[in-house]
Amino acid sequence: MNLQERAGEVRSRIAEACKRSGRDRDSVEIIAVTKYVSLETARDVVDLGYNKIGENRWQDVKPKWEALGSRVEWHFIGHLQTNKVKDVIGKFSYIHSLDRLSLAKEINKRAEALGTAVHCLIQLNISGEESKYGLEPEQFFPFVEQVRNFPYIRIAGLMTMAPYESEPEQTRPIFRALRQLRDECNKRALLDYEIHHLSMGMSNDFEVAVEEGATWVRLGSILVGKE
Ligand SMILES: *Cc1c(COP(=O)(O)O)cnc(C)c1O
Repeated sequence: MNLQERAGEVRSRIAEACKRSGRDRDSVEIIAVTKYVSLETARDVVDLGYNKIGENRWQDVKPKWEALGSRVEWHFIGHLQTNKVKDVIGKFSYIHSLDRLSLAKEINKRAEALGTAVHCLIQLNISGEESKYGLEPEQFFPFVEQVRNFPYIRIAGLMTMAPYESEPEQTRPIFRALRQLRDECNKRALLDYEIHHLSMGMSNDFEVAVEEGATWVRLGSILVGKE
């Protein structure tokens, strides 16, 4: 399948998942993850109309950002080392991987210097896998109470990665738990605004994530492909 065919396939599978779960199709957006492909392919993706691009390493995204930067909204979805914050700040509209206080401090400091708040998603490790980054669920509410004090950080939502499962249905409890944490955070009014986004679902499991409330699915191989 070519890019257009894959895009059509993904679109209809998201529409079906919305229908099954009674969701409005417009409540789910795709972040096209271009980390596996060249600048040329990333440009094709943008030309096709995708305007949210996800990448996970500044070194790799730099040429793409320089070529396509102003045409799209950039989402930093990978683990972020504290000493790399200065590279991505001001270039990415959303950082999906806020997972520790030292990182929050650094983002807040750099954002203050720029004079603009940075939108972040708190990354959670719900499955408890050793190999995954993110806060454990028990750490979440105390963490929100701490980041609340950083005026240059705005929490846009929560992000998680489910373990790879040959049967995607197995990921459902993970996505459901992320939604429940978001809802509970809003119910407790821990911030003086509501958090909205659930960044969850990848190529293998996005339909389950949509059924459980994903607002952003991050799609690489199934949509953009791999080179
Ligand atoms: C690579 C990556 C994706 C996309 O992965 P696919 O399974 O190819 O869709 C999504 N989210 C994160 C955090 C990633 O690193």
